[in-house]
Amino acid sequence: MDETRRQAIPSDPALRVKSLESLLVEKGLVDPKAVDALIDTYEHKIGPRNGARVVARAWVDSDYKQRLLTNANAALAELGYGGLQGEHMVAVENSAKVHNLVVCTLCSCYPWPVLGLPPVWYKSAPYRSRSVIDPRGVLREFGLELSRDVEVRVWDSTAELRYIVVPERPAGTETLSEEQLAGLVTRDSMVGVAKVAASSEGARL
Ligand code: FE
Repeated sequence: MDETRRQAIPSDPALRVKSLESLLVEKGLVDPKAVDALIDTYEHKIGPRNGARVVARAWVDSDYKQRLLTNANAALAELGYGGLQGEHMVAVENSAKVHNLVVCTLCSCYPWPVLGLPPVWYKSAPYRSRSVIDPRGVLREFGLELSRDVEVRVWDSTAELRYIVVPERPAGTETLSEEQLAGLVTRDSMVGVAKVAASSEGARL
């Protein structure tokens, strides 16, 4: 391959993937709609719903919550979750006094088995740097204003260690079933950039 041609190949992995995808589509080997559907499924459906089930179980079963907080991998395996990109998990619990926020300052390490694929903002340079420098400011931009007496803990994920936040169970949900509770839990609340609302209206996974 000559020098000019080599330089024309994008070095950014995202660009390389995009080029590959374009080529496959062009040659009629893949349907772009199928690729989009696949990504959407992992990003919005399968992944975060797993985490939501874990959180709902922790809310209704305090023994399970204890196991989750002390040995997350074993507790996740109880519900059938584990595997690639989630080999070493830690669960951290939000309370009225403590708010946990998860980031990967180095790249985009994320707990795939329980949250699916990381959203674009999670991988962005501003989120990765500012979450550590000014977590309250970042949360404010997500629409979450925390009072000064709430301690904010920021967890930096690595390829070895990944986190899931157990958000606070909202008041007024005492009569809901575990399944209904799971329906309230959003992806963002398990990364720590949002709280869980008592109504699923407007909630997004
Ligand atoms: Fe990373």
